[in-house]
Amino acid sequence: MALIVQKYGGTSVADIDRIRSVAEKVIRVHDAGNDVVVVLSAMAGVTNRLIQMAHEITGDPNSRELDVLLATGEQTTVSLFCIMLESMGCPAISLLGFQASIMTNTAFGRARISEINADRIQDLLKQRKVAVVAGFQGRDQEGNITTLGRGGSDTSAVAIAAALKADMCEIYTDVAGVYTTDPNLCDKARKLHRISYDEMLEMASLGAKVLQIRAVEFAKKFGVPLQVRSSFTEEEGTMIVDEEKDMERLLVSGVAYSREEARITVTNVPDRPGIASRIFAPVAEAGIVVDMIIQNTRKSGLTDVTFTVPKADYQKAMSIQKEVAESIGAEEVLGDENIAKVSVIGVGMRSHSGVAAQMFTALAEENINIIMISTSEIKVSCIIEEKDTELAVRVLHSVFGLDAAA
Ligand code: ADP
Ligand code: ASP
Ligand code: MG
Repeated sequence: MALIVQKYGGTSVADIDRIRSVAEKVIRVHDAGNDVVVVLSAMAGVTNRLIQMAHEITGDPNSRELDVLLATGEQTTVSLFCIMLESMGCPAISLLGFQASIMTNTAFGRARISEINADRIQDLLKQRKVAVVAGFQGRDQEGNITTLGRGGSDTSAVAIAAALKADMCEIYTDVAGVYTTDPNLCDKARKLHRISYDEMLEMASLGAKVLQIRAVEFAKKFGVPLQVRSSFTEEEGTMIVDEEKDMERLLVSGVAYSREEARITVTNVPDRPGIASRIFAPVAEAGIVVDMIIQNTRKSGLTDVTFTVPKADYQKAMSIQKEVAESIGAEEVLGDENIAKVSVIGVGMRSHSGVAAQMFTALAEENINIIMISTSEIKVSCIIEEKDTELAVRVLHSVFGLDAAA
């Protein structure tokens, strides 16, 4: 008999009928003699609606209170789910993040899990109860409710699985696994049977929201057996595994995209030591994560500095830069929210050159303008205009030989 952690995303618990069919699934696994911990997201759309309501009051809602608000989404689903399980004769107890001792730091809205004391969950399992834990939330040292960032229920599930040394952590979602690219954008996407932690980390960090990046980091660090699969079918999903010697080392194994970034350019910056720090230190102090950076010094001795930030932090970053520009004598600050990042990922790139050039040629042939480029050992990313996202993803998917056979 096994200890299994199952996480169900928003679409899997979107209404009472879906909650019923997930409950039936859970009962089957529990009745077979397994210990089951269920981690749930809020019903599809609920987190967005709560955020929107807070923003109807102010553009910059208090971050502590926003987390109290957002945590209600998951509170709703765990209670409904336990009412459902109990009504079907299956003993179950819901636990909010703090009740499950999911301890985090105090970074509201993007808190990190520091520790989980799994005693309470273990007690429930010993009593043969299903433990139903609210995903996405925890508590800090002072007892404040915190949330883990969008998609954070994945991380809750993997962290709980690590704390319990579970035999398997299953992420149930609205697609049948991890694909070569988003199957909702590209109908030629292929389901992968296995993907390495490192490739999955890149895919997640470059926008493939099928798994939150922190979840993959946890799984890799603690060796949690992790699987992504559909909550609507019995189809085999995708296993996230250590890179194995016999693993097929495709040059490119996936294409990811993100529309979640915005670009900022500070023009005609005087070129002298310390300038980059003057530009980026205040951004970092505001807790804003900068992704790509380009700096071009011209013959005139003036520099343009361009960088990208999450769209959610765009307004804040723009106003910081306007002040910085004035204080360092730069000319102006330009911004663009209509950009996207497309990336190709593959561990095979470690030992091959030419992927970047092939990517640029493929985009050029479709007349897609590349605004920024960044590369690492196992990925190449380009910032392009947002309107070109879908075309770029499809073209790259096809050029790198990933299209499913017709
Ligand atoms: P959940 O609510 O279950 O957590 P998410 O919407 O967070 O679901 O994640 C699942 C979605 O991730 C899919 O519907 C799909 O559109 C998107 N996605 C993006 N890239 C990929 C990929 N490479 N493979 C599978 N799904 C992907
Ligand atoms: N409900 C949260 C969100 O929408 C967490 C999650 O679904 O994983 O981001
Ligand atoms: Mg998700």
